[in-house]
Amino acid sequence: MKKIAVFTSGGDAPGMNACIRAVVRTAIFKGIEVYGISYGYDGMIEGNIKKMQSHSVSNIIQRGGTILKSARSEEFRTVEGRKKAYEQIRQHGIEGIVAIGGDGTFRGAKVFYEEFGIPTIGCPGTIDNDIYGTDYTIGFDTAVNTALEAIDKIRDTAAAHDRIFFIEVMGRDSGYIALECGIGGGAEFVMIPETETDLKSIVKSLKNLRKTKSSSIIVVAEGDDEGTAEVIMNKVKEKVNDPDKEFKVTTLGHIQRGGNPTARDRVLASRCGMAAVEGLINGESNCMAGVVNGDVVYTPFADCIGRTKELKADHLKLIEILSI
Ligand code: ATP
Repeated sequence: MKKIAVFTSGGDAPGMNACIRAVVRTAIFKGIEVYGISYGYDGMIEGNIKKMQSHSVSNIIQRGGTILKSARSEEFRTVEGRKKAYEQIRQHGIEGIVAIGGDGTFRGAKVFYEEFGIPTIGCPGTIDNDIYGTDYTIGFDTAVNTALEAIDKIRDTAAAHDRIFFIEVMGRDSGYIALECGIGGGAEFVMIPETETDLKSIVKSLKNLRKTKSSSIIVVAEGDDEGTAEVIMNKVKEKVNDPDKEFKVTTLGHIQRGGNPTARDRVLASRCGMAAVEGLINGESNCMAGVVNGDVVYTPFADCIGRTKELKADHLKLIEILSI
């Protein structure tokens, strides 16, 4: 293998830069030319492809976002779009691809590989942590820590004024961020898409609040089945029906995507990036390089996108037991 390309796609995640750096430097170390594709699949279709050197990735390991930019591409979902992308890959003589992104990115990579046979390996770059085949995804740890910092601050004001705070965190289809920052932030309740939300028990508990606690933190994943934090707060407020209780909502939003990656994310990103290049050299393809139980593991894209990474049962139990 003489030439490979790397790109980032889907939602950006802190640590993507550390992953790009690892891909570029591992490739150069192994005597392989490496190209950066800007703006994900759109950049592939448009031929936004440039050769990278070791210094192209200097001073980026600590930066959030992605120097290669990210995009969501409607055109790549079409056969015609993917044909154009293949033409660009062929013209540049690229023999292997590293795709950094989430499950959507891997869906695209799998179809592309099956149609055109360019060996491709993915690295799990998404804050959601919802990808089968890796214990953690690149960006998740940073996102949780960012949310946690905000929750700690909100807790101060919640306690000072005896307020009930509903805090919305990211996670359209996944409750991992909500669950971990709920545990770490000492939340009374966590509402996530994977489990049915028990509004009745929340209302009951909040009605009794003054007997046990003065304030409450309730973490809501944005994809919860009962609606947004604002919608849930209004439903609960109406049912609690106590003018002495003050209800507030904070939506953390995009701050969760930004910021310097944590040490965990930088190390994970570096390991996955190196493993992706080594995998390509060793003939692996149509799979993702992740870390399971401390070891690098290659998992077929079909499993990464087709299987569900189950939430840990003890995580859910922790919230219930520790919030009494
Ligand atoms: P995140 O988890 O952060 O949202 P993601 O990689 O899942 O990241 P998506 O927007 O779902 O983000 O996917 C990224 C891109 O992958 C899409 O914009 C599209 O171009 C491509 N893609 C997704 N699914 C398919 C598919 N079935 N066929 C072809 N391309 C796809």
